[in-house]
Amino acid sequence: MSLQFDILTIFPGMFPGVVGESILGRAREKGLYDVHLTDLRDFAHDRHRSIDDRPYGGGPGMVFKPEPVFEAVESVLGRRRADPERTRRLILTPEGKRLEQEHVRDLARAEWIILLCGHYEGFDERIFLGLDFERVSIGDYVLSGGEIPALVILDAVVRLLPGALGHPESSLQESFEDGTLDHPQYTRPPVFRGMAVPEVLLSGNHAEIAEWRRREALRRTHERREGSPGARPPQLEGSTAKSLEIESF
Ligand code: SAM
Repeated sequence: MSLQFDILTIFPGMFPGVVGESILGRAREKGLYDVHLTDLRDFAHDRHRSIDDRPYGGGPGMVFKPEPVFEAVESVLGRRRADPERTRRLILTPEGKRLEQEHVRDLARAEWIILLCGHYEGFDERIFLGLDFERVSIGDYVLSGGEIPALVILDAVVRLLPGALGHPESSLQESFEDGTLDHPQYTRPPVFRGMAVPEVLLSGNHAEIAEWRRREALRRTHERREGSPGARPPQLEGSTAKSLEIESF
């Protein structure tokens, strides 16, 4: 069965363009996944279709009310049957767990992913407390809404689905898959504005190329991501291993 996404949002119009293009578009045409959008405003209780209200205690901005969000989630949950073990419910929020590739790999094993997007000042706390959703952030910065984070998750997950990429190995060779960043890539011409492609890549020696790529990936990871949970080459864990690896560059 293909992976099903349910996305709850007040801006459903933000999705079709991205979902219809490139790898996401082709994967959807191939039936590898599908997206169902729910407009949270359809669950508003007033004729203005308002789903937000002023925060208790004062302060700027508006907060998502619990009633329409609970009712929308209950409606979505009532529409589909799926293995609870393979159902993931995510609420997008900057104070959630930061998304890493390991989490994305885990999500790609699901059969149903529900994404709840906030806007304005975010959610009434009872939405977090009363709904059994994982809080997920795509990074320590604040966006206007959860729609772009939802698309980030969708894209990251779909490219891992078997058949989504032209070359099945592509996703395995990318940054973070083995705990390292990707190695540098070059294409023609061999020299561009004085910058030459490293000799080894033109040598045709596959073993040496693989070794060069591995070393460059380790070097980059060490230089750019030391201490980052997303890119942590096993060889660099522990101070002794770390100094050995650095010396060998
Ligand atoms: N008042 C909130 C705070 O300071 O944490 C920010 C709310 S933000 C302007 C509105 C919505 O955008 C959030 O409810 C969430 O759904 C989404 N959002 C913004 N930044 C995000 C991030 N880094 N990761 C995931 N969702 C985010």
